[in-house]
Amino acid sequence: MSELNLILTGPPGAGKGTQAKRLMDRCGIPQISTGDMLREAVASGSELGQRVKGIMDRGELVPNEVVIELVRERLARSDCKTGFILDGFPRTPEQARVLDQILEDLGREAVRVACLQVPEQELIDRILSRGEGRADDNQETIRRRLEVYQNETAPILDHYAAALKQVDGVGSFDEIAERLAAAVGVGS
Ligand code: ADP
Repeated sequence: MSELNLILTGPPGAGKGTQAKRLMDRCGIPQISTGDMLREAVASGSELGQRVKGIMDRGELVPNEVVIELVRERLARSDCKTGFILDGFPRTPEQARVLDQILEDLGREAVRVACLQVPEQELIDRILSRGEGRADDNQETIRRRLEVYQNETAPILDHYAAALKQVDGVGSFDEIAERLAAAVGVGS
């Protein structure tokens, strides 16, 4: 396969964003984070941002059609031609099915999927100590985000069973980056 079409999944606090950025630098393909795109919309005060702010603050998922359109538009851009790293999308089986269709319409090669695994208590500790000032990084919302992950997102792992690599997400940033690169076939 010549394209590097990656989906990076895992619970909140697993380090998807950090590791996606590392892979982006290593492989020269863009990171596409729906969470970042939505936070930018909120910060800009756009109509979309106003619509999703409360949902995000509660740790719920924004409606599928909102994120799907963001991703559809983003994946069609020319910088995604040789590959991309999706971070935080898909987050439901429905989003996964639509993504399959989007990629088929674009004539893209198969995706590779990696899930970062971190024990729940460490996830909570990491989020509470990362100090990014995110409105959803408080004790109550974290619990809700973890619940939403288990109930709504974890089922996508079945959808991707054939392509899925589980990656141990505990360790130093460098160690995890090496494991992840090896798992998705871009190791040194
Ligand atoms: P984390 O992985 O730490 O929960 P993200 O930055 O990926 O953080 O997402 C933050 C919030 O943005 C989510 O709790 C949700 O409200 C919204 N969001 C991001 N991606 C999606 C998506 N694919 N579908 C629905 N909502 C999303």
